[in-house]
Amino acid sequence: MDLGAIADNWRTLAALSAPAECAAVVKANAYGLGVDRVAPALWRAGARTFFVAHFKEALALRALLPDAVIYVLNGLLPDTADDHAAAGLRPVLGSVAEITEWSDYCRDNGTDLPAAIHVDTGMHRLGLSLEEAVQLAGTYRMLGFTPSLIMSHLACADTPGHVLTARQRMVFADVARRFPNVPGSLANSAGTLLGRDFRFELVRPGIFLYGGVAITGVPPLRPVARLEVKVIQVATAPAGETVGYGAAQRLKRASRLATVSIGYADGLFRAAGSSDLAKGVEAILAGRRCHLVGRVSMDLATLDITDLPEGAVERGDTAVFLGDGISVDDLAARSGTIGYEVLTSLGARYARRYVGG
Ligand SMILES: *Cc1c(COP(=O)(O)O)cnc(C)c1O
Repeated sequence: MDLGAIADNWRTLAALSAPAECAAVVKANAYGLGVDRVAPALWRAGARTFFVAHFKEALALRALLPDAVIYVLNGLLPDTADDHAAAGLRPVLGSVAEITEWSDYCRDNGTDLPAAIHVDTGMHRLGLSLEEAVQLAGTYRMLGFTPSLIMSHLACADTPGHVLTARQRMVFADVARRFPNVPGSLANSAGTLLGRDFRFELVRPGIFLYGGVAITGVPPLRPVARLEVKVIQVATAPAGETVGYGAAQRLKRASRLATVSIGYADGLFRAAGSSDLAKGVEAILAGRRCHLVGRVSMDLATLDITDLPEGAVERGDTAVFLGDGISVDDLAARSGTIGYEVLTSLGARYARRYVGG
């Protein structure tokens, strides 16, 4: 994990976004990369506002970053206002019930604690309806607290030119202006790249910090994750034999095979395997790209090394699944998924090594 690349990627987005503030989304263990190392690196780079999904993630982050502003995207579960307050966390309030609970807590305790308000502008996942938001706008000064952020989330910003993106921006601009003096935030990574009109006062990038593609067709920033696994056996098999569970791939030629120590329990998706019908992911062995042969097992996968010079690969060698030109999104595309899922599925059995921090 290249912490220097993450810091650089954040600085690139911060420079692009100014004068809007550039926050950092570090939910799901910083997209699987390791929040205990990633969050302090982002703080050193200059990030001051962080977003996580869960209260427990926020507590862990608070222990790492005592002075950071921390928002909890999944909002306030019943009877947890005091827990949030005690740790100085800001829930992202997405319903009238949550707003009422936070407001009551603040009033009962004679304290004005910041929290964000989430408005649904067309994704229909979380947030106040437009009617609720408009009604709140007329009365929010009577709440027991001062909202510190008014936010919404884009559903399709990764797809260039999607009509919903433009519609959500217009709706959000209309809602945000009804909350004067409350900073607005609409943009994830993709939204941040869409231009000034999408950035409002604060942007919330995640995937772009971690070397993933944010908008289809727009190149990512510096790659962050490199994935190396060990070859544990090199063998040959005659033409006509099959490889792996389900005998899903029959060899068309006498083959040399390298079995590597990675499987679906490590986040190499079963959909990444090969069969007679489709080629699966590639990994680099001895400087060359080799395809998987047959299905991905729980702990193992097999690579076709027939095209490499004999003796080029030995037991104990390293196969590269991410890095040296194989991006997170390359691996994702050949696994039928997206970079986000590749990163957040990186297995617990890997030894994570950090450089550039
Ligand atoms: C995850 C998330 C983000 C970050 O999205 P990326 O596409 O990774 O940049 C921003 N805002 C919200 C509400 C999120 O859930």
